[in-house]
Amino acid sequence: MTITVATLGFPRIGPRRELKTALERYWSGKSDPAALLAVAADLRARTWARQRDLGVDHIPSNDFSLYDHVLDTSAMVGAVPVTYGWTGGPVALDTYFAMARGAQSEADGADCGHHHHAIDAPAAEMTKWFDTNYHYLVPEVSADQDFELASTKALDEFAEAKAQGIHTRPVLLGPVTFLKLAKSKDEGFDPRSKLDALLPVYAKVLNRLEQLGADWVQIDEPCLVLDLDGVDRAALHTAYRVLARTAPGVKLMLTTYFGGLEDNLETALALPVAGLHIDLVRAPDQLDRVLANAPTGLVLSLGVVDGRNVWRADMEKLLTRLEPLLATDRQIVLAPSCSLLHTPIDLAQEKAIDPDVVSWLAFAVQKIEELVILAGALNQGRAAVAGAVAASTAAATARRTSPKIHDLAVASRMAAVTPEMARRASTFGRRRAVQIPRLNLPAFPTTTIGSFPQTEYVRKARAAHDKGDLTDAAYEAFLRAQTARAVAWQEEIGLDVLVHGEFERNDMVQYFGEQLSGFAFTKYAWVQSYGSRCVRPPILYGDVWRPRPMTVAWWRYAQGLTSRPMKGMLTGPVTILNWSFVRDDVSRELACRQIALAIRDEVTDLEAAGAAVIQIDEAALREGLPLRRADWDNYLRWAVEGFRLTASGAADHTQIHTHMCYSEFNDIIAAIGAMDADVISIETARSKMELLDAFASYAYPAEIGPGVYDIHSPRVPSVAEMADLLRAAQSRLSIGQLWVNPDCGLKTRKWPETRAALVNMVQAARQVRGGV
Ligand code: GLN
Ligand code: ZN
Repeated sequence: MTITVATLGFPRIGPRRELKTALERYWSGKSDPAALLAVAADLRARTWARQRDLGVDHIPSNDFSLYDHVLDTSAMVGAVPVTYGWTGGPVALDTYFAMARGAQSEADGADCGHHHHAIDAPAAEMTKWFDTNYHYLVPEVSADQDFELASTKALDEFAEAKAQGIHTRPVLLGPVTFLKLAKSKDEGFDPRSKLDALLPVYAKVLNRLEQLGADWVQIDEPCLVLDLDGVDRAALHTAYRVLARTAPGVKLMLTTYFGGLEDNLETALALPVAGLHIDLVRAPDQLDRVLANAPTGLVLSLGVVDGRNVWRADMEKLLTRLEPLLATDRQIVLAPSCSLLHTPIDLAQEKAIDPDVVSWLAFAVQKIEELVILAGALNQGRAAVAGAVAASTAAATARRTSPKIHDLAVASRMAAVTPEMARRASTFGRRRAVQIPRLNLPAFPTTTIGSFPQTEYVRKARAAHDKGDLTDAAYEAFLRAQTARAVAWQEEIGLDVLVHGEFERNDMVQYFGEQLSGFAFTKYAWVQSYGSRCVRPPILYGDVWRPRPMTVAWWRYAQGLTSRPMKGMLTGPVTILNWSFVRDDVSRELACRQIALAIRDEVTDLEAAGAAVIQIDEAALREGLPLRRADWDNYLRWAVEGFRLTASGAADHTQIHTHMCYSEFNDIIAAIGAMDADVISIETARSKMELLDAFASYAYPAEIGPGVYDIHSPRVPSVAEMADLLRAAQSRLSIGQLWVNPDCGLKTRKWPETRAALVNMVQAARQVRGGV
């Protein structure tokens, strides 16, 4: 039986971020819908043709999206909340973007240019797609929800490809995962209870696809790698029984990714589908169990190439595992572990990275090439592709032994890490006793999270410097002036613990990655984060160490401008790790420990330079939580250990702060306490201090600044509003524990609202102090 190759999805943004440019032109009123849709169609056509030319047998359609595939699914089934003014029928482009980005009527000064909206509605909630850094728009389903086919995108794109001579396998987000991700504003209502109403829309889509000529449809149910309850399992059984009956003409490739099926294996194998895709990168061990238990007729799609990371596959190793499958009768498809959405597009564009490092990498296009070679080796014997397999082996060997990856000094330092190194010398109480007289702060001390507005002006100067249009000296002078102004202004409005403003930083991870050994930076390797927003994660390829101090000079300059405490500002190891493409040759735990040692060196140097307060941001600690509850403890153990190793070189008299974004901390509050920071600032304003509920059962041991205003919006909160939040916090925490700060860094804000909000915040602190 011939082994075929599938792609589960391809990046949408375009090799040069063409989609981003087109979207932003449209949103700013510089182009019309036709221009935007033409760019999108052109990208799709090129993507399909490219995959065909590379030799893909099952080319996806409907994997493209103008913004987000979950939002596309909401549109497909007509799950459009009433606030967006939709009254049935096809969901219009501007309704779709209103859900994605919010919309305001013209009078309110919207950012949507000439597109006139009669409505004023906030964007739908956005959250992380499983454990990736891609964000989707959370579907909203109401208790009286009706579903209808309200977007024919899936059908249209199939027909579009067909007209270009390309037969595709359409991709749909499955109904069970869709409802499991959905939320409702109706108290106590579980969207999963709407399954029966939803299925007819899916059946209709499948029937229409069949009429158009589709034979296979990829139906994604990544919920199958999560902890499922009885309701979920019953939903899966119902959904696929109904679809098998109502749409018998299309074969479904039930697609799972981001983990193993584990205890859901039996459920998955009992579903009446024609094929099953499993992730063999995250869960290689599940292959044997699937082979042993899957019905003989079930087509197996094996995700053997990492769709989430940038490393070149070791083909010899893979072939050794796959060749025995040839002896079975089973029909096999080779695929990436998940959609290639999460990888950059084409390595061939990167001319500036170290060629050795390049030889270890594979982006989306290269991963498809690998799959085609693997299939060739299996179908025709290794000899048919001997050159390619040998090249892959050579690269794998070179990488395993490269001195660019393996640093003996790092290894010996790692070996010398003791448990004591991850422990502060004294308890929080003793540390506090020496920090209080040194810092001499009022009750409810005020501070900010680090960055001040990265205005157009700042970004232009950086771009000019990068291009060589601004000399090092001129750029340095510019940054100093920005910093000095920010420091003077903080003194003027009466903040207690100051920050330098982070004007010199492009990004809180990149800034450190660029100064550490072991990281590579790409030029075009963009990955979609949400909508038109893309990130270029650093590539962590080797052992990490810090050649020289990274932040001390800026800290020293800023502290020299004021007699108030100036925070040293660092990004923590867990966040650097979680926002990078990481090595696959060592564990995340080990990589984290190496980064921790490097940042620990910076803590030591800042302390020696005189910093009394050092903040180590762990913005991404929570988002690194594994998908399965059973894996949480292990992750939290090494993540907390990584933070402590970073912080614990500090003496008692140095106050260590940390900061975390996103509000849901109640379930991991004990782990956060175990980080043993002296002060934590944490997002709470958006959830109206929901965090405080955790303190009913858990006595938070140290000081804490629950964010008193949401920095994600330009809205300026009033003094009374922030004072109220502080009083609410005071009811659960002791007065000496509380700090006053915004939810997060201010870099995305503009100066006018930042000024107004911080002035009010300082006023609110004074008010509650007065009440003390
Ligand atoms: N210190 C960083 C800043 O203020 C923290 C950002 C973050 O938590 N995402 O920008
Ligand atoms: Zn934050």
